[in-house]
Amino acid sequence: MAQLSFNSIGRTYGEFTALSDVNLEIGSGEFICLLGPSGCGKTTLLRILAGLETTTRGAVHLNGEDFSNVPCHQRNIGMVFQSLALFPHLSVGENIAYGLDVRGVDKKARHARAEELTALVGLPGLSDRPVSALSGGQRQRVAIARALAIEPVLFLMDEPFSALDAGLREHLQIEVKKLQRKLGVTTLFVTHDQNEAMSIADRIVILNDGVIEQAGTPTEVYARPQSEFVANFMGTNNVLDVEFVPGADVIWNGISLGRPSGEMATLSGKRKLSVRPEYLQLAPVGTTGTGMLGTVEFVRLLGAQVETELTVAGHRIIDTMISDRPPAFGEGDRAEILIKLDHAWVIPS
Ligand code: ATP
Repeated sequence: MAQLSFNSIGRTYGEFTALSDVNLEIGSGEFICLLGPSGCGKTTLLRILAGLETTTRGAVHLNGEDFSNVPCHQRNIGMVFQSLALFPHLSVGENIAYGLDVRGVDKKARHARAEELTALVGLPGLSDRPVSALSGGQRQRVAIARALAIEPVLFLMDEPFSALDAGLREHLQIEVKKLQRKLGVTTLFVTHDQNEAMSIADRIVILNDGVIEQAGTPTEVYARPQSEFVANFMGTNNVLDVEFVPGADVIWNGISLGRPSGEMATLSGKRKLSVRPEYLQLAPVGTTGTGMLGTVEFVRLLGAQVETELTVAGHRIIDTMISDRPPAFGEGDRAEILIKLDHAWVIPS
C-alpha cells in the first residue's frame, strides 16, 4: 500500500483552476520531485500536503487514513522553504532544536539531538554559533537539520537551493539525496529545474497547468515521454512531426529519416517523434549521402559536450556530441545529419 496518496485533488481560486484531478501514490521512503514551469501548481500541492492550503476537491491519505482535516501542526511534517525562515536571534543548535522544544522534549534530549543533526548535515561544532554568522549554504543545512530533527513522517522542500550558486547547489543536492537515503524519510521536493530533478529524484512528477503530465523515474520521463510537453520540458530535444507508412521510410517535411525497424515499422500515419540530440550524428557533406542536409547556425561548448544548432528546410535541429570528437563544425557550415531511429521515441498520441 502506498504511504501517501493524493486522490482526485482539485484546487480552484475563483474561476482559476490551480490543480485539477491530481492522483498520485507515493511509497514509503521515496524521493519525489514535483517539477514543472512557474505557476503549474507545484507549491499549491505541497502546501495542501503540509496543511497550509485546503483543497476544493479530493483528499490526501497517509497510511490509508484521510489526512485532510488533520491540522498542520499535528501532521509531523518537516519543511524547508526557499526563504528558510530561520530564527536569526537563535543559535544553530537552538534553531535545530526549536521543533523539539515546541513538542515538549526536555533540554538534555534536545541538545543531544541538535548535536547529532549538526554533525549529520556537515556542521559539527557550530551549534553555538548565531545563524546570522553563517554562509548561505550553512543556513540551508541548518534549515534541513531543523526540519529533520522532529523525525518527520514526511520531508517537504520547496525550491530550497534556488538562491545558491550552481556549484553549491549541486553539492547540496547530492548531500540531501545521500541524507534522505540514509534516513529513509519520504520526501517531496519542488523544483522547476529539470537537471536538479533528474539528479536527485527516485520519481519525477511533471505538472503542467495544474495537471500531472507524467510520473516516472528520471530515465522514463527522459527516454519515454508520454506527451509532447514532457518531451520538450525534460532537457533539450527534437520533437518532429513525422509520417509513418508501413514498409517505407519515415518522412519528416518531405525528407526521409530512414527505414524504421521493430515496432516502429508497423506504425502508420502522422505522429510526433522525440529524437534526443545525442542520437543525431553530424558528418561532412557527401560522407554517406543518406543523411539530411542542414546548415550550422550556432555552436556552443558545454564542457564535455558540444551543442550544435542547425536548420533543415527552415526547421531547427539540435545535436550534441562529445566535444573532443571530430569532425568539428563551425557556424555557416553545411552538414549531413543522421538520425539513429532505433533510439527515437514515438510520443503516444
Ligand atoms: P512557481 O514555480 O512560480 O513557484 P508553482 O508551480 O509553485 O509556481 P503555485 O504557487 O502552486 O505554482 O501556483 C499555481 C497557480 O495558482 C498560480 O497561477 C498562482 O498564481 C495561483 N495561486 C496560488 N495561490 C493563489 C491564491 N491564494 N489566490 C489566487 N491564485 C493563487
